[in-house]
Amino acid sequence: MLTLSTRIWISFVTVLTAGVILSYVISLSGKQVGDTTRHLVTVQLPKLALIKSFRASLTEHERLLYEYYSTTNRQIIWPKVLKQEQEFQKYLSSISESFAGDIMYLPRLQSEITSISHTLDKNLAMQSVDWDQARLELAKLTETGQQAENILFMLTQKIQNEAQQGAIDTQLQIDNIIRLVIIFTAFIILAAMFVGFYTQANIRKTAKRRALAKFPERNPNPILNLNWQGEILFSNPAYEDLLIKIQGGKPNLSQLLPNDFINKLRNWQREHKTIINFEDKIAQYHLHYSLSLLPDLESCHVYIEDITERKKAQEQLKYQAFHDIHTGLPNRRKFENTLNEKIEFNRPFYTLFISIDRFKFITSSQGYDIGDRIIEHMGKRLQTFCGNLQKHIQTFRLEGEIFCILLDESEENNITDLIAAIQGSMDAPLSVDKHRYYLNLSIGTCHYPHDGQTARSLITNGNAALNYATRVGDSWHTYNPDLHAAEQSWLPIEEGLRNALTHHQFLLHYQAKVDAGSTKVKGAEALIRWVAEDGKMISPGMFIPVAEQTGLIIKIGQWVIEEGFSQAKRFLDNKQDIQLAINISARQFQHRHFLTQLQETLEKSQADPSKIELEITESLIMENADHSIEIMKKLKNMGFALAIDDFGTGYSSLSYLKQFPIDTLKVDQAFVRHLESDNDDKNIVRAIVDLAKHLDLKTIAEGVETQGQYHFLKDIGCDYIQGFLFSKPDSVDKLIKPIRSF
Ligand code: C2E
Ligand code: MG
Ligand code: MG
Repeated sequence: MLTLSTRIWISFVTVLTAGVILSYVISLSGKQVGDTTRHLVTVQLPKLALIKSFRASLTEHERLLYEYYSTTNRQIIWPKVLKQEQEFQKYLSSISESFAGDIMYLPRLQSEITSISHTLDKNLAMQSVDWDQARLELAKLTETGQQAENILFMLTQKIQNEAQQGAIDTQLQIDNIIRLVIIFTAFIILAAMFVGFYTQANIRKTAKRRALAKFPERNPNPILNLNWQGEILFSNPAYEDLLIKIQGGKPNLSQLLPNDFINKLRNWQREHKTIINFEDKIAQYHLHYSLSLLPDLESCHVYIEDITERKKAQEQLKYQAFHDIHTGLPNRRKFENTLNEKIEFNRPFYTLFISIDRFKFITSSQGYDIGDRIIEHMGKRLQTFCGNLQKHIQTFRLEGEIFCILLDESEENNITDLIAAIQGSMDAPLSVDKHRYYLNLSIGTCHYPHDGQTARSLITNGNAALNYATRVGDSWHTYNPDLHAAEQSWLPIEEGLRNALTHHQFLLHYQAKVDAGSTKVKGAEALIRWVAEDGKMISPGMFIPVAEQTGLIIKIGQWVIEEGFSQAKRFLDNKQDIQLAINISARQFQHRHFLTQLQETLEKSQADPSKIELEITESLIMENADHSIEIMKKLKNMGFALAIDDFGTGYSSLSYLKQFPIDTLKVDQAFVRHLESDNDDKNIVRAIVDLAKHLDLKTIAEGVETQGQYHFLKDIGCDYIQGFLFSKPDSVDKLIKPIRSF
């Protein structure tokens, strides 16, 4: 491919050559035209003039002789005749010279004329003129003159023909010249157009190149041009700016190239590399270098980018990816990575999964903000605690209220003491927003490699242990395979539950609620039982959470309602004054058809709603207190009695409690269990009973197993008692009254 300038040069040389050739051809043709013209002017025209003079001389000679004949005045005329003869003698020799002797018999005719004239002169000069002879000679003279005239006419003709041929040749030459000039002009026009086109293209290219040349100048990123030895040949303003900026922090910095750049450059040259990308840090700045090595030009272009901010952002992102925003502790992803790293080293270690008991009740009652703050404080406290131990312990926040502690086996020989210490670290309340929160921790422990060999199994098993501990509350549990088996057994539960409804595997047991004073049965709680195909009775504690999760609770709950309402109607028909309590689950309560289905069932069963008490757990109500109040009001309007189940665990605020349209508070078993030994529980239960009285509500304590518990409850004014002490949940026939009295 020829370059533009080569093309233009070729055009110029071609035009020049054509011009030279044309000039040569024109000069040749011009010379020829000149020669022809010159020949015409210098040769042919004089010849013609000579012939003309010769003819005139001949004519004059003939005229003089006639005059001589008529006058016979020899004295005057004869000299003139002789003069004429001399003249045309002279002309004849000139003609002979000019025509190179090709004048045929003209000299003979001329001598004949001369001889005739001399004969005539002799005759006329005589005394007796022979006039006949004279006339004969004159006639001969005229004839000879005529012959000479003919020859001269022929010579004239010849010259004219030659001149005409010369004119034709000249015309041809001129035509050729004109043609050549036209062709050359066309050629020049074409060449000019060609040169013009390429010149324009070149101008455009040059303009583009000029614009391109400004590219490095105006580029906001630093650009360098180095020679093959690594010396800077060119640097753009952006480079200078960045250099000045970085020099601010490091004044002795002379250039923005890494220290060992020259050596590296040599290596790249040796390895014939052309494109190289790398990053380096100069002062506090992260720079990205993009090199383009140009061996043909023996130079190197360097494009530098200040990526400090990007690096910072990346580090920030990396930090965020591996840390929890609330506590600043490493997060679950980091935890998994750390587990994998530890497993690679194959050194035994413990994982302690820690969760805050009933944390979701805190968030549902106090809001997520408080929840976050509590998590934040909890994280700090855990970190401080671990820091004080001066052991190599790593603390993580995995999710929600779950934290994890990792420690090498070699660091701890008594894990039980450590767990007790961790739980003890939460004895002091956490102060958030002027409120004090007493938190209990449940801990599930898992040991590598004993309880799991992979990160995944350690996490699964650790969580299984934690779940177990959480269910008990304020406790800890180490992983064992049975535990896992129990968790696994949930799967068949879900499958079995789907069939249980159609196969009528559910039934209701009833547990009496007795009047604390008279111990007479005043009511009963309907508690669902699932008798599986093998006849084994499965506890609702096992399957209700599964039913909740899968949504099956809606159908199961509906069945309980239908069955419960029918039983309430039977109590009514049998004139048994028993108020029947039915448990309502969270999902059931929030279901959009809950109220209509309840109404329909009520109408269908013909039961008295005032003889039916709906038990709703406190935590459920508090999840969305305002909405719950709305529904509870509608339930009240329908005529149902309402009780708050498991009261004391859901962090109800007093302001809300006043708004709940309820009849009964049901004290949670957790407070009743250690009632005889635990003064705190005594105080709590007493406070609940007092509060209920204050709000004009009835109280019932559940899980009452001992007489001590019963007496305490009766003494503080608790209205009703429910528990194994009086009745275990059983079929409706076993609801005997009064069961026992103390
Ligand atoms: P809950 O409503 O608090 O029921 C009281 C639980 O305490 C029952 O357990 C009952 O058997 C048990 N209990 C009663 N007296 C004593 C005692 O003296 N000592 C001890 N240790 N336990 C006692 P159950 O029947 O296993 O039911 C557990 C939970 O399952 C119930 O707690 C309730 O939340 C749920 N549940 C039971 N039936 C239904 C139902 O039909 N629908 C719904 N949604 N939930 C139900
Ligand atoms: Mg209940
Ligand atoms: Mg309860």
